Amino acid sequence: QKTVEDFANWLRDLAVTLHENAAYLTELDSAIGDADHGTNMDRGFTAIVAVLDETTFESVDELLKKAGMTLVSKVGGASGPLYGTFFLRFGTALAGKEITPASVGEALKAGIGGILARGKPELGDKTMYDAWAPALEAYDGAVAGGSDLGGALAAAAEAAAKGRDATTPLVARKGRASYLGERSAGHQDPGATSTTLLLESAARTLA
Ligand code: ADP
Ligand code: MG
Ligand code: MG
Repeated sequence: QKTVEDFANWLRDLAVTLHENAAYLTELDSAIGDADHGTNMDRGFTAIVAVLDETTFESVDELLKKAGMTLVSKVGGASGPLYGTFFLRFGTALAGKEITPASVGEALKAGIGGILARGKPELGDKTMYDAWAPALEAYDGAVAGGSDLGGALAAAAEAAAKGRDATTPLVARKGRASYLGERSAGHQDPGATSTTLLLESAARTLA
């Protein structure tokens, strides 16, 4: 049974991963955006770690909701509200629930629903949703096939990586990259890249 500690370890692992990949994410964003995605994510997750260091959380949902609120308040731009809403709804969906592959799947769906509500992305718009959508599908498929949480998250991360790679040839239709029109093609989407890092970290730490 996964505990609040396990989820806190995920957020800490993700903070390290995003810090290590900050320059890379910013480089991706410099090609089709405003060169801040790495610093945005690093700043947000550094703030989350500071909260973890000073707060004891009683439940997984409180922890995740606080992480979401921290991202909304500390990270501007597109990604702060989008990831913030993801964690808020992901946490809310787990309130009072046992952590099972099925309940986490429902919570992922709720979190991604928050991204859809905020950003209105469609598949193929060259956004983080191009990683989230196939990830959820793969997650649900793995759970239906009897996978445990770690196995389902690993399937989700693998599908997210394929979705991320598939953003490269696309023309962006949402966010700053869409201002470039056809010139956005040929570059990997930064947000789809950070989403893949998030799911790979979850697969590592929640297995
Ligand atoms: P900003 O573009 O405000 O500088 P970031 O650089 O931190 O914010 O994040 C950019 C990422 O946000 C993009 O690579 C894309 O994946 C994601 N994004 C932008 N707009 C949307 C949207 N409407 N829906 C979903 N994702 C979006
Ligand atoms: Mg940016
Ligand atoms: Mg910006």
